[in-house]
Amino acid sequence: MRWRIYEMRCLTTLTMLRGQIVHGVIAGALRSIRYGQSVTPKMVKESVTALIREQYGESARKLWHIDNRPPGRKLSSITSLVEHYYNLPNMNERARDAQQVAWLCVENLISSDFWKEIAEGSPSTWAEIEEESFPSFDIDGIQVYTKIDFAHSNGKNTIIDWKTGASNEQDRKQLILYSMYAKAKWEWEPCETTLAAVYLQPELKVEQFSPTEDEIAQVRAGVKESFQQMMDVEPAYGPADVANFPIAESRRDCAWCRFQGICEGRVLSSEF
Ligand code: SF4
Repeated sequence: MRWRIYEMRCLTTLTMLRGQIVHGVIAGALRSIRYGQSVTPKMVKESVTALIREQYGESARKLWHIDNRPPGRKLSSITSLVEHYYNLPNMNERARDAQQVAWLCVENLISSDFWKEIAEGSPSTWAEIEEESFPSFDIDGIQVYTKIDFAHSNGKNTIIDWKTGASNEQDRKQLILYSMYAKAKWEWEPCETTLAAVYLQPELKVEQFSPTEDEIAQVRAGVKESFQQMMDVEPAYGPADVANFPIAESRRDCAWCRFQGICEGRVLSSEF
């Protein structure tokens, strides 16, 4: 059972895979520009196609299964989709839709004036981003992990977050948290930092702002509160009490839950 739970923990969804691929392709495009190479919409679309084929294919061939796993590959390094794991229907259509949205994201960005401005700026003003790790900083003793997409100090200190989905109320808070990380890492004053959420589809839309002191204090308090809520139900040592984890109130949440295969209160994805 423990192994099965681990198998489920490694599941992702097509929407998440799509986002991860778009972010990876944009990071690659920025690396190319840093090294003086040109980037075209056609090139980034081809990169998206290749990555989706490779990673979707891994999941479709069930490479995550113990009987199929290539020697030397860790389960956590293999793409396994909720959609395949729970045998959702219409997989070809779902994969095609994911590819189309990912294409739209990178094409909209690379063809935009927003991108042109970045590409024509000096890479010496770009902040070093640790792509392979989750850097962290401290908020009153709580270690907070962040993953900034891109930051530069070309004119004004700016942090950019690429968004492959629709906007939501958390986006602003997330960017404010990044500004707090930038203060710890680069000594950037949060209230003087431009924070930009770049929504990549259906049309490119850039929403930028600088946070106020009040907003920063609210985000700081929110982190502490949610950390406390987590500690209240999950002890640092020993097993958690299952009674503290009631089943989801909205069964819609079950549709994309990785653990629906072992949850007694579940409604399976295939029933939606
Ligand atoms: S109730 Fe639904 S969301 Fe909660 S663990 Fe079970 S399947 Fe997942």
